[in-house]
Amino acid sequence: MQTTMLYMEDNYIRSFDAKIISKGENYVVLNQTAFYPEGGGQECDTGTLSYNDKILTVSKVRRESGEVKHFIFEIDQIPEISTSVKCALDWDRRFTHMRYHTAIHVLSTYMKSHFNSECVGNNISTRNGRADFNLQEALTEEQLKQIEKGVNDVINKNLPVKINFLPREDAIKFLEEKGYQTDYIAMVPPSVKTFRVISVNDYDHASCAGTHVTNTSEIGKIKVIKRRSMGKGKERVTLSLD
Ligand SMILES: [Zn+2]
Repeated sequence: MQTTMLYMEDNYIRSFDAKIISKGENYVVLNQTAFYPEGGGQECDTGTLSYNDKILTVSKVRRESGEVKHFIFEIDQIPEISTSVKCALDWDRRFTHMRYHTAIHVLSTYMKSHFNSECVGNNISTRNGRADFNLQEALTEEQLKQIEKGVNDVINKNLPVKINFLPREDAIKFLEEKGYQTDYIAMVPPSVKTFRVISVNDYDHASCAGTHVTNTSEIGKIKVIKRRSMGKGKERVTLSLD
């Protein structure tokens, strides 16, 4: 039995009921979850899992060998299979990830349209959001200021962010039509028939399994806190939320 990933359709589920379907020495697998497992550059959610009068700590969530494992700190209190549990996310942590993740999507389209540069990697944590771009020349202080202003101008338009599920071929076609590079999604195993496409109004579109806000107004103001050369035509831009 597979875990239903509740956050794929709804990024605002903070608490939910679930059943233990499998367990290990230090983890449980649930029939459904709103916890985001580490992946796609985004750190995992953390929170609590309760049953009877016990409140356990979910310290890490990871996808391993086809299972979504919720690692429990109190390993001596892990409930039995079939136990009904109540789960709650550390919402401050998750909401920060959502704000950074959508901001990084806006940044990547900004970099594409103003610097003709593709995003080649990203990382989203509670500390910051960063993205790497293929750029032959180092970004100057002035350009970083321009990027900060440009991204904030887009965010300030209060753009709606939508999640759409498209059949694989349609998703690739759609992204190509919008001018995106689709080599990386064409590499996704053919068994994946449906793609989740995140659209920041008509400004940015991306195939992404991460968690996002529903309107850019929720991001607030971003700051470009630093750039770093990653060597060989790669520049890292790091964002901080104000
Ligand atoms: Zn993403």
